[in-house]
Amino acid sequence: MRGFPIFLDVKPRHSKKGVVKWPLVFGSSELMTAKTRTLLLRAEKVEVACDVLHASLEPLINSGQVITRSMPNRWTLCPAILGRSLVLADPEHPKLAAKISRIAKAMGVPVNVPDVPDLCSFALAAIVDRDPVTIAIGTEGTSPVLSTKIRAQIESDLHPKLGVLAQLAQSFRGQVAQRLKPGIQRRHFWDLFFTPTQSVARAVFEDRNEDAHNHAQQLLEEESHDEGAKGKVILVGAGPGDPDLLTVKAVRAIKQADIILYDRLPGTEILSLARREVELLDVGKSKGKPSLKQHEIQELLVEHAREGKIVVRLKGGDPSIFARGGEELERLQSEGIATEVIPGITAASAVAASLQIPLTHRDLARTLTFVSGHAPDSGAADFGTLDMKALHSGQHTLVVYMGASRTKAFADHLMAGGWTPTTPVMIVESASQASERRIKTDLATLSGDHAPLNLKGPALILCGEVAGLPAAGAIENLEVAEHVSVKQIGHDDIAHAAEETIDYAP
Ligand code: SAH
Repeated sequence: MRGFPIFLDVKPRHSKKGVVKWPLVFGSSELMTAKTRTLLLRAEKVEVACDVLHASLEPLINSGQVITRSMPNRWTLCPAILGRSLVLADPEHPKLAAKISRIAKAMGVPVNVPDVPDLCSFALAAIVDRDPVTIAIGTEGTSPVLSTKIRAQIESDLHPKLGVLAQLAQSFRGQVAQRLKPGIQRRHFWDLFFTPTQSVARAVFEDRNEDAHNHAQQLLEEESHDEGAKGKVILVGAGPGDPDLLTVKAVRAIKQADIILYDRLPGTEILSLARREVELLDVGKSKGKPSLKQHEIQELLVEHAREGKIVVRLKGGDPSIFARGGEELERLQSEGIATEVIPGITAASAVAASLQIPLTHRDLARTLTFVSGHAPDSGAADFGTLDMKALHSGQHTLVVYMGASRTKAFADHLMAGGWTPTTPVMIVESASQASERRIKTDLATLSGDHAPLNLKGPALILCGEVAGLPAAGAIENLEVAEHVSVKQIGHDDIAHAAEETIDYAP
């Protein structure tokens, strides 16, 4: 069965003769009692037709939720099915179930015989119930265990009182429609209304229903008086690429965004978290199109925020590290636009986690420096201005961002500053992504002729004693190349330098 999910009205139906017709279950057994209970999540009553009653049904009969009747005979079967919102039949009686299925299908009455897909015209979904919110899970019968697992996950994600919040929302719909403009203003209200950490939802979840009502009323007042644009720019750290390394807050901001401006991101998984109507703007380099200039990006941020939008500026790693986040904030704040910054996991942390080595170490590295391999604007190596002597005097870890195309210059500079040629170096490409590569070497090898690095993605250079600690996962060793032509290395470096300058320059 290719099942299309819909929600069925299970209110009682009335026949022409005034007979009340509830959903009907044929047969009484433990299995059918379980199914009856599921129906009772939404149906006020269920009728059960059987000759012998299973004991498990008794509490439901005593509570008045189940009405029993005798099993229809061949003459009364059709009228019994006619006009029902749905019927269920016990697979324990296959012949009868097949007959019921045939008749129900002919009459257009939805029918389900548990675990006999051929006899079903609909499937019973696994349900997460937050009445009136219903989440139905279907796997087309491929895996009941998977349904159960998904259900457990959703159960734990959704607050038990979510239904109460939905009911409160229902009671405010009329007022909201009257007093707030459609589009951004209303969405903003509902967004705050449903956010678990905001006053309305928090009061509901803490069982303070009267407070919740008052907070909602207050929120409505505030929003209806706020005619001005509610625009805001959120600088969001997207982490090193693995969507699992986004923060919860980043996910929330992405889901909330009206528009997302992003640079080159690894994969589309992170963007697929956004609302379906979101506007996505690639401000990084893409094939055949140069990247926007920094001032053009800032202009766009201002423009969209002025229109009252929630603008997410998504940046790889952490927005405060080699990401020009500071410049963007400065510009936005000078325009009086509200801003927020959500940190992300920076590439260095991702590399350390992936290799399972620390960046600092009580015996080996008591200080840590992040340095950029690019000078602003020029694109030339930046570490020339660093005082390597000062750094090498202590036990130190040096992490170079955007430096993978200038490894030789970097190694030479460090050694000239007194770092020992045997200082371990680890170059990690595309950390946290499926294409991650790690290359182990030392300063002397990096400075001399060696096999090409062949880097395709962003890469980080980790330098210092910690880079020599035993690392988890597959590690390549950089080969000293007696026969590698200088031209070959040069070519490789130039290609990668161009990539870095365009895509990752701060
Ligand atoms: N704001 C980012 C850094 C941007 S600069 C952060 O906090 O991580 C871009 C540089 O970051 C790249 O040239 C590379 O050196 C490094 N980088 C970014 N993502 C990386 C990744 N997944 N693996 C290795 N290095 C990465």
